[in-house]
This record gives sequence, C-alpha cells and structure tokens, in this order.
Amino acid sequence: MTDSPSLGLSATAAAILSEALPEGLGGYAAGQHLAGRGAEVEARYPATGELLTTWRDIGAEGTAAAVDAAAAALRPWQEAGPFGRAEALRRLAALIRESAGQLARLESATAGKPLRDSRVEALRAADFFDYYAGWADKITGQTLPVPGPWLTYTRRVPYGVVGLLTPWNAPLFTAAWNSAAALACGNTVVLKPSEFTPATTIVLARLAEQAGLPPGTLSVASGLGETVGQALVADPRVRKVAFIGSVATGRTVATTAASRGVPALLELGGKSANIVFDDADVDAASDGVLAAIFAGAGQSCVAGSRLLVHADLHEELVAEVVRKAALLRVGDPLDPEVEIGPVGNARQYEHVCGLVEQAVGEGATRVSRHGERHGLSDGGYWVEPTVLDHVTTEHTVARTEVFGPVLAVSTFADEADAIRQANDTEFGLAGAVWTRSVERAHRIADEVRAGTFWINSYKTIHVAAPFGGFGDSGWGRSSGPDVLGEYTQAKAVWVPTAPYPAPFPSLRDS
Ligand code: NAD
Repeated sequence: MTDSPSLGLSATAAAILSEALPEGLGGYAAGQHLAGRGAEVEARYPATGELLTTWRDIGAEGTAAAVDAAAAALRPWQEAGPFGRAEALRRLAALIRESAGQLARLESATAGKPLRDSRVEALRAADFFDYYAGWADKITGQTLPVPGPWLTYTRRVPYGVVGLLTPWNAPLFTAAWNSAAALACGNTVVLKPSEFTPATTIVLARLAEQAGLPPGTLSVASGLGETVGQALVADPRVRKVAFIGSVATGRTVATTAASRGVPALLELGGKSANIVFDDADVDAASDGVLAAIFAGAGQSCVAGSRLLVHADLHEELVAEVVRKAALLRVGDPLDPEVEIGPVGNARQYEHVCGLVEQAVGEGATRVSRHGERHGLSDGGYWVEPTVLDHVTTEHTVARTEVFGPVLAVSTFADEADAIRQANDTEFGLAGAVWTRSVERAHRIADEVRAGTFWINSYKTIHVAAPFGGFGDSGWGRSSGPDVLGEYTQAKAVWVPTAPYPAPFPSLRDS
C-alpha cells in the first residue's frame, strides 16, 4: 500500500476532478454547463477533509433549465423508437465501459470510495444500460378479450420527464441503475445528484450525448436538496419521481410529488440482519459478515449492520470477525490495493461517530481492534471497522441506520427468536441466513420481511433481479423486468370490429 502524505492525496484528487470537468461542477443540459448562482457548495476529499473545489447551487432557475432540456428531448427520444433507443443505450454502455478507468478515479476522488469498488461500479453502470437496451424493443402491450365486437389492446406509454434524486454513497451506480430503465421506456430524465458528489453524474450525462441520445435526454440539476431537489420534484413537467436516499427525505419528496398527483418510487435505507446459526460454516459466515458490513465502509443501503448469532456460536464467530476485520486494508481510496476507505463526508462522519459513542454509553461493548494503518490523515473522515457486541433491541444502534463501518452484534436462542429479532425493525431492505440446514434456510428466507434475502451469502445484486424494500425501506422496485411497469403507464385502445350500435334509440335509422 502506498504511504503518501495527505497533501499529495488531495492534490491528486483535485487534479482528477479538474481534468475530468475543467468547467467545474454545476448542472448540465443539452450540451451546456449550467453554472449556478445559489449557495456555495464545497467538494472535499474524504480521505483528508481538504477542499477540492467550491461551486454554486444552480437553484430553481437552473433546475427549470434542466427540465426544459429534458422536456424538449421527449419528442426526438420517442421518435427514435424502441430500436433506436436500444441502439443508443448500447452505445452509452460501450462508452461507459471505455471510460470506466476515468469514471472510477473521479468517483474515488470525490466520493472517497476505494478504487477497486469504483471500478466495479463503473462497469456495472455499463451493464445497466446494456440490460435495459435489451428491454427497450421488447416493451409490449396485450390484446385483451372483452365482451362484444371489439379489438382491445394496450400500449405501454412513458410518463414523460422523470426526476431522479440520488445519494452520495454510490453516485454513478445509482444514477445509472435508475435512469437506464426510465430511458429504455422512452422517458427523459433529470438527475439530481447529491450535493456531495455530482461529478460522475455530469460525466454520465456528457457520455449520453456522445452516445447519440438527443441533447437533454439525460440532464443534470446539481445543488442542495432543499433548493434544487425540491424545485425538481415540484416542477409541473416532471411526471414521475424516483428517489434514492434516506427515509426522512424520501417522505418529504414523496409528499411533494403526491401533492401534484405524481407517483414516487422510493429506495430508502436499511437495518438488515445477518443471521448466523450454530451449524454454519464459520469461515464462510465470518467472511460474509465482513463483506456485508465493511465493504464500502458500511455505506451501503443493504449493509448487514446487525449480526444475529446463535448464542452457542457467539464467542467463536465474534472472535473470528474481529480478527479478520483487523486484516482489512484501510487507506487512501485512490490506492488500488485499499479495501476500506473513509466515510464519505463530514456530516456522515459526525453521525457515525455519534452513534458509536451512544451505543457504548447505552451498554454495548466495543470489541474491534485497529489493524496496521497507512497514511491516514487526521483531517480525513476515518472510522475503523467497528464491532459492537452485546447490543440489544433497546439500543439506539440496533434500530437506527448507521451507514458506516459499524457492526452491532446480538445473540438469539432459537429459530423463532432469530426471526423475531430480524423483523424487529421498521426497515425491510435485505437480510441473510447462514446455516447448513436447507429446510431452515428456506423457512427463514420466507419469514424475514425484506426485499432481498441471501442464503449462505451476502450482497450480490444484479440489475436482472428486482430490488427494493418493505416498510421504511421503500416503495416500488428499481431493477429487473418489473421496473418497466414503474416507468410506463398502460393505455387501452378500443376498436369496434362490427358496425357499432346507435348509442340512443332515437338515433336508429336517423
Ligand atoms: P439524503 O436523503 O440526505 O439525500 C438523497 C438526495 O436527496 C440527495 O440528492 C439530496 O440532495 C436530496 N435531498 C435532500 N433533501 C431534500 C429535499 N428536502 N427535497 C428534495 N431532495 C432532497 O440521503 P443521503 O445521505 O444522500 O444518502 C444516504 C441514504 O441513502 C441512506 O439512508 C441509504 O440507505 C440510502 N440509500 C438507499 C439505496 C437504495 O437503493 N435503497 C441506495 C443507496 C443509498
């Protein structure tokens, strides 16, 4: 691992940013950089906390310009037809793949995500466009039997302009994950990236234009949530909203959309349980526990942040998790060997540290130790992989999304107790069970209330499978074939196939 002084790291990150976007950060629509005049926003390198650049919120005026561009692109995008859209989305996928190295460096420089993760996410972003390019020319209606002499069929019609709001933890991944399906269905999209991490979203919109999507089809409105986010959701031309972020903001966004009669797809947070029985393969389960909570420094909506372990395996499993956690390579996100980077921003850092302190104050035991560390700057948002043992359902950390590298460990007595504890949460995004019993594995998968569940594994997701949450974790699904129904509405067309009877007796023979 490279042991670099902090000044060098920030300078590298700043150079990556200015090389990728020489005009600076802001909005982007129809080939134009949208410079803001609103509040000043800072971009900091999470590994050092040092300032990379400042830029200005584009405000309601800039947001309206992004929506103008997306509204103007609706006709050419719909005229491209299903096959034209499929071709353009495939070209976009190819351009993302070609640019994956640059996109990954930019993501790591601005979001603090380790390069090895950013690279995978950039390639996944390309996969999303390929996958939905495959669907674009297969979105069909139905011919419906109805009583009487009618040919009745349906067509799937796009909503129009979709407003898509994304979080800071996986900016490119979430932008591509949701916009690919919306675009394939014939909608145009205005992306509102997190104010902490707009850079890769802007590059994505530029690549979309290079790929031949009509200018404005994928536009970007950058700025704060209360200004740009609200202006986007309130714009009367936005006919569908997709939101990825926290529960509190999701409710505000959905309320604003609903007040205009506009539906909102919500992908929110989680407090997912990783359940380990005493017959589990301890080596595989401990690897799985680490992957579930420490990958991405725990800043993943599906993070397995609650470890529920059978009382008889508790001591052995926790010891193994703690031992392995100390081996993880924590360090500069731009170092290709680093496995765990910093927390993404100062606000989140305070939130994570506050919850760890509170957990200890409420009676949890901090059992993790620090491993060997290289070049971690004091100003960076560093939280070591943290294991909190003896957590109970009364502890705040058992109920609150930490969204950081913090594992809360509790024990259970039997299967019923494990299911009860797993479901003792308002969230319902994901979960897993580790056991050698096939019967028990399926029983648990059936009983745990979660949108995604793994058996003897954790974290794998794919655009081909539905993804979304129960309860506070969200509303609707944002991948797989079902999502085509999220971004289109059915239109029924009725055609008489025999002379149509007069609607009123007085009109007969008239
Ligand atoms: P956040 O709710 O603070 O922000 C999300 C987006 O909403 C940002 O673009 C933000 O600027 C915008 N926003 C904030 N206030 C707004 C307002 N009043 N009106 C309109 N827009 C507003 O979330 P975050 O901190 O960026 O992200 C972390 C959260 O995202 C976690 O809860 C995590 O679990 C969740 N997440 C969910 C998924 C998923 O697919 N379920 C994926 C990634 C992250």
